[in-house]
Amino acid sequence: DTLYDRADYVTWVAKREARGRALVFSQEHASQLGQVRRMEHALHCADLDAEIHILFQPQFDVAMNRTTGYEVLARWRSPIIGDVSPVDFIPMAERLDMINKITQTVVRKALAVSAKLPKSIRLSVNLSANDLASTTAVAAIVAQVHKAGTPCRVDFEITETAVMRDFEQASQGLVALLALGSRIALDDFGTGHSSLTHVQKLPLDRIKIDRSFVKEVTIDPTSRAIIKTTIELCRNLGISCVFEGIETEQQLDALLELGGTVMQGYLFGRPMSETAMLEQVARERKGWQDRRDVIFGTAG
Ligand code: C2E
Ligand code: MG
Ligand code: MG
Repeated sequence: DTLYDRADYVTWVAKREARGRALVFSQEHASQLGQVRRMEHALHCADLDAEIHILFQPQFDVAMNRTTGYEVLARWRSPIIGDVSPVDFIPMAERLDMINKITQTVVRKALAVSAKLPKSIRLSVNLSANDLASTTAVAAIVAQVHKAGTPCRVDFEITETAVMRDFEQASQGLVALLALGSRIALDDFGTGHSSLTHVQKLPLDRIKIDRSFVKEVTIDPTSRAIIKTTIELCRNLGISCVFEGIETEQQLDALLELGGTVMQGYLFGRPMSETAMLEQVARERKGWQDRRDVIFGTAG
């Protein structure tokens, strides 16, 4: 059993890190594998409702000069192993067939928060490929939204791997989500297996350009050209275009020059707690109320 377990693990590492080469299972792999198995065990036994919480990262619309929504990002705090990044626990949950349950938890928590927000602010929840691939998982999401009451102000982000396995199934799932009044964003566009067929055939409301392009926008003319073309593509299709991972004002200026409007990244705000997010929303609303008082002459 140990031999198979180790062979399986190092094959997985080799596929990721050493394509076309052989890897020998080392002491380091042994300790990584031990760590992975401990995490899997902890996730398997986790009380998801208590251990999974959500953070919110602002999406700022430069043209409207306000925050129009927040991306919902899952966090896992295990009492046994501490904080685990979604980069680690989401793929693990997919392997352990637990992702649908985690999505349920995230959606339920997001719906509860959205009820406290002004109507102009939307929340955007990430879906895994395994969610869209399962009719029961989509039905469970739909049921939760119905239970929370309409109109729904929760949107969904999907990646292209979600639609590659079974396009028909995924499309049906998306149609069910659209019927809730949710919008669909294509996440991490430009990485992995981006295809114009997906953009053509999926009922998308927005495309999120991956942060690897944003990172290069100030230095690489090719990235700039790709961004410019994608903005143009979105405009022609009548969908919006969101930029991820903006960290510097230089990057922001470069994106503005190319015609970008909706921005997300550390420059605008790190993922924050519900309390911090609600405070930010209240501050922005107060700013607007003050301006309104000036415009309509009700100030002072
Ligand atoms: P994503 O959906 O592309 O989310 C954006 C990630 O980029 C987040 O990492 C966010 O914190 C990070 N980020 C945002 N702005 C910046 C920036 O300016 N600079 C840098 N360096 N990073 C930035 P996070 O929260 O660690 O999430 C990583 C990934 O995990 C997400 O990528 C998403 O694929 C997945 N994920 C997170 N929450 C969920 C969830 O509830 N369900 C599913 N299925 N996946 C999730
Ligand atoms: Mg996302
Ligand atoms: Mg992304």
